[in-house]
Amino acid sequence: MSRPTAAKRFAAKVNTAGPVSLYRGAPGPCHLWTGGTVDDRAGQFGEHYGKFWHAGRMVRAHRYAYEQANGPIPDGLEVDHKCRRRDCVNERHLEAVDHRTNTLRSTGPTAANARKTHCPAGHAYDAANTYRGSDGGRKCRACKRARARGEQHLAPVATLTAPTLERTAA
Ligand SMILES: [Zn+2]
Ligand SMILES: [Zn+2]
Repeated sequence: MSRPTAAKRFAAKVNTAGPVSLYRGAPGPCHLWTGGTVDDRAGQFGEHYGKFWHAGRMVRAHRYAYEQANGPIPDGLEVDHKCRRRDCVNERHLEAVDHRTNTLRSTGPTAANARKTHCPAGHAYDAANTYRGSDGGRKCRACKRARARGEQHLAPVATLTAPTLERTAA
């Protein structure tokens, strides 16, 4: 039996049913790296990057994915996640940009929101459950259905204090 190709080894470590990206430039679901990661505490967010052994050395998984789709990364450029998820290796979410652009895009509340994988009520932002609102943000279909049924899924049970329950019962 022959050894699997690098592309096959790579694909085996990718979950292509990740959350749908918040960003218009990054269509479809994120492809999440499920293999090993390298600690990047020195980086701005102290997050982890996927790592992949290729041709006898360790490469960052998203850089490998970018190069498989687009060819070598141009000198001086970094591979940016347009979806703002560092564990994503979907080549359609990756773009070679300079360091300043990469840093600017990685900050701010929109970037923080994009890293969330679930709605405030705990439903997954996957392809089947996500649609885009008029403000461009991700919306949860399960919550929309609940609102249509007149249910309120967002209020934690703890906020239903005794007076509230009495009013409801009356
Ligand atoms: Zn992505
Ligand atoms: Zn929801």
